[in-house]
Amino acid sequence: MTREQAKKRMKQLQSVIEHHSYLYYVLDRPEISDEAYDSMVRELRKLEEAYPNLIAQDSPTQRVGGKALGKFRKVTHRTPMLSVQDVISFDELVAWKERLSRVVPDTSLDYYAELKIDGLAISLTYRDGLLEVGATRGDGIVGEDVTQNIKTVKAIPLRLRMPPEKEIVRFLKKYKDIDEKKFRQRVETLKGTIEMRGEVYMTKDVFEKVNTEARELQREYANPRNISAGSVRQLDPKITASRNLNFYAYALKDEETFGLATHEQAHECMKLLGLPVERSAEYCKDLEAACNYQEHIQKIRPTLPFWIDGVVVSVHNNELLERLGVVGRTPRGVVAFKFPPEQATTRIIDVAFQVGRTGALTPVAHLEPVRIAGTTVSHATLHNLDEIKRLDARVGDTVIVEKAGDIIPKVVRVVKEFRSGKEHVISIPKSCPICGSKTYRREGEVALYCSNPKCFAQDKERIIHFVSKKGFDIEGLGEKIVEQLMSAGLVQTAADIFALTVDELKPLERFADKSAQNLVEAIEKSKDIELSRFLYALGIRHVGEETARDLAQHFTNIRTLQQASLEGLQAVENIGGVVAQSVYDYFRQEHTAALIGELFKNGVHIKKVQVVSSQFLKGKTVVLTGTLESLSRDEAKEKIHALGGDVSSSVSKETDYVVVGADPGSKYDKAKKLGIPMLNEAEFLKVLSKD
Ligand SMILES: [Zn+2]
Repeated sequence: MTREQAKKRMKQLQSVIEHHSYLYYVLDRPEISDEAYDSMVRELRKLEEAYPNLIAQDSPTQRVGGKALGKFRKVTHRTPMLSVQDVISFDELVAWKERLSRVVPDTSLDYYAELKIDGLAISLTYRDGLLEVGATRGDGIVGEDVTQNIKTVKAIPLRLRMPPEKEIVRFLKKYKDIDEKKFRQRVETLKGTIEMRGEVYMTKDVFEKVNTEARELQREYANPRNISAGSVRQLDPKITASRNLNFYAYALKDEETFGLATHEQAHECMKLLGLPVERSAEYCKDLEAACNYQEHIQKIRPTLPFWIDGVVVSVHNNELLERLGVVGRTPRGVVAFKFPPEQATTRIIDVAFQVGRTGALTPVAHLEPVRIAGTTVSHATLHNLDEIKRLDARVGDTVIVEKAGDIIPKVVRVVKEFRSGKEHVISIPKSCPICGSKTYRREGEVALYCSNPKCFAQDKERIIHFVSKKGFDIEGLGEKIVEQLMSAGLVQTAADIFALTVDELKPLERFADKSAQNLVEAIEKSKDIELSRFLYALGIRHVGEETARDLAQHFTNIRTLQQASLEGLQAVENIGGVVAQSVYDYFRQEHTAALIGELFKNGVHIKKVQVVSSQFLKGKTVVLTGTLESLSRDEAKEKIHALGGDVSSSVSKETDYVVVGADPGSKYDKAKKLGIPMLNEAEFLKVLSKD
């Protein structure tokens, strides 16, 4: 075979393989056997070995190509990956609709309902038809670049499919409200950026198989979401590939540029482009239909090959959905209609008390292992002493355990009919199970506390929190290692971590030259940190990720925050009295100043805060019309988002500002009619420079 012939054959093979992948993954209608498919891939691989220069970047053999990484690169999402608000009953669904009707009165609403698969949300960005970036959701704003691993998921095409003319015609005939010109312009060229979002998940079969293997190594996964996330976040793509992950797309970004009118069209359009879309999704003409859909899905749930935890109901009309906008971090026009929590009965074998970083002792019931919602449950929380009393729970009792979503399983009821008389009452610990100090209850609180502020358990939990993902995010510094470092006397406070040396680590068990070196490097890298993460890491009571971000945005440096008065703290947006008091008290404690001083002394450095939300656009909806001279539409959108504003494609009474460029369209007339404030380009630029 000549080089030219080989080239031609390779091209043919690639296109035939892609076609059969599409039939298999997207249409679920394979036309050839797996063996025939594999033999074509083998032939292609052989040719590629002979002509390595001819290997196409998007060749189906190149799914597992990358080398293992040290760490994932961070990617900022083009538009935030929002989360979805939950409803758990038909009444709540009706209340949701009433809220919508207040925003868009006199509009009849219809819906699109689809399965809410329990996996990991992923954003896929294609450029000129080729898969460029696969990213995790992360905190919704910034995710991790997991492209190499995403490429190993066979259901995700490396190149978008260009739909044949007859399919385009059929599509346009089926959906008459599509803007044909826009639609053709995008799907016939695939030019520019096309972003889609969806769920990477593991089927029940594969989960059982992987988990059986993991169980033997005592590394069992708690639930399918953890395993999907764990598999996608493997630094070595070979491991991800071995996990046989699957994918369904559920959202097409920038739908308006495709001229699409409804969410159903977005689903069907993604299918045309070669992305698998779950096929039980259904149009619902009203809420009753959506409710029936949810009930039906709940019935067939056990027969599905993957786990779901509810259905997602979206306002069907795209333009309306956009007009409904975003509340907080969730789109107003979309809800997750969750299934009721799942329950099972089992027996309490023992109750132990865990000491948290605040010193609170939490009673945890050890259970006879039981399967609930695809998860093995062997522990459940009993919350606190009052809860134990209320339940009248005893060791040996048969109990009903409930699990809902991500929440820790809890004991909801004791089935007293099963009592044999051999059960015994749970004794309230008089001393801390870790350090042996006396326990006490605080006035007005139900929790039991360890009285020793230097309690090893508390220190340990504080340090684990400090180095956790949302804090200093030190790779390789997990619970076991923290415990080991503390036992060896190398670490007493979080500040000590930053003074660790390779020579100190090397003699420890589990550490070799290389791993000691790696840990010291990871620590070094973590020293440059954002103020919000720094504040989160401190573990101030009531200060989670979002509050830490609000504080960082408001005070912009640690000194000002340390000196802030109680009134000053109460004035921060989104921060209530209890949180303000807690932050105030924290910075008045002697050891706080000492800890922060030590951290800085050991090289921790807080990055300068980029104040992103000028008050001017926060929570405001902006519409762009006409051409701007100094920046593109996308750049303008990005800037508005960065300043906390939302961009809408149509003018309504809810619009706060309209930015008017050259040759404005009908939006200008509408804004004028509604009396909405307008900004010309110069005024708009002035607003943007206010950060
Ligand atoms: Zn203690």
